[in-house]
Amino acid sequence: MTSGTALRPTDVIYRDLAQKRVLITGGAAGIGYATAEAFSRQGCRIAVFDIDETGLERALKSLPGAIGKHGSVTDPDAVNAAFENMDEAFGGVDIVVNNAGISMNKPTLELSLQDWQKTLDINLTGVFLCCQAAARRMVPQGSGVILNISSIYGIVAAPNRLAYCATKSAVAMMTKGLAIEWAEHGIRVNALAPGYVKTALVEQLVESHRIDDRALAKRTPLGRLATAEEIADLAVFLASDKARYITGQVVGIDGGWTAYGYI
Ligand code: NAD
Repeated sequence: MTSGTALRPTDVIYRDLAQKRVLITGGAAGIGYATAEAFSRQGCRIAVFDIDETGLERALKSLPGAIGKHGSVTDPDAVNAAFENMDEAFGGVDIVVNNAGISMNKPTLELSLQDWQKTLDINLTGVFLCCQAAARRMVPQGSGVILNISSIYGIVAAPNRLAYCATKSAVAMMTKGLAIEWAEHGIRVNALAPGYVKTALVEQLVESHRIDDRALAKRTPLGRLATAEEIADLAVFLASDKARYITGQVVGIDGGWTAYGYI
């Protein structure tokens, strides 16, 4: 884990983001952590909400001035506590990145009701709870940005991922519904739909031979998996005023995966 303070040569600075108050769920690792770092480099005030207490402590050490809350996005009390923590520390919230999520990679006939429910609880209900808690603060202030992390599997299907695909597709539709409902309150809601990204989530699937990263790279027109930093760069842009007319979109960031329809 590198320090989040130093600007990188590829960084674009969006001056409107300075001092913005950003909550990132699942921000202790992977895409969420890279996103926390990227917003931190923009001069934002960062709050991380994650179920992994050790990972959270580690992440906070390299995010200057960041605050953290340990808990699950599936627990309404923990979600409220995370937002109240921000109210106390920062006086509210401007940007929420709903990133916490799990994979569920099993043939459908082996998928237990418990597997199904767990995936829905974290990947879908967790996003709903955080969107609602965010908007309770953003509606009165008349502004806010919500970014939901969907997936290519919210757009196209793959075998053995029924619960994952169903939740990510629902997150894409929830994004559109909330965008049109809350536009009048100055709140923009967009989703990111990444292809495969090199994170612990993907490494675990590679190690357990559930996916083959070389085959996935070959299947991707750009010939490789994404880095978490590339997803974070898009999140920062979408949160900035440069994206002020973008709402209700599911923005693909997949190296051409969903455009590809040959062999
Ligand atoms: P990751 O497993 O590396 O990190 C996920 C983080 O979320 C971890 O810190 C974990 O502790 C936290 N988390 C998990 N359950 C939680 C809960 N109930 N409450 C709070 N925190 C929780 O995963 P990642 O690869 O960085 O994926 C992040 C998001 O991006 C997920 O929603 C995932 O579905 C999505 N996504 C990932 C990929 C990919 O290839 N890695 C592709 C498309 C979409």
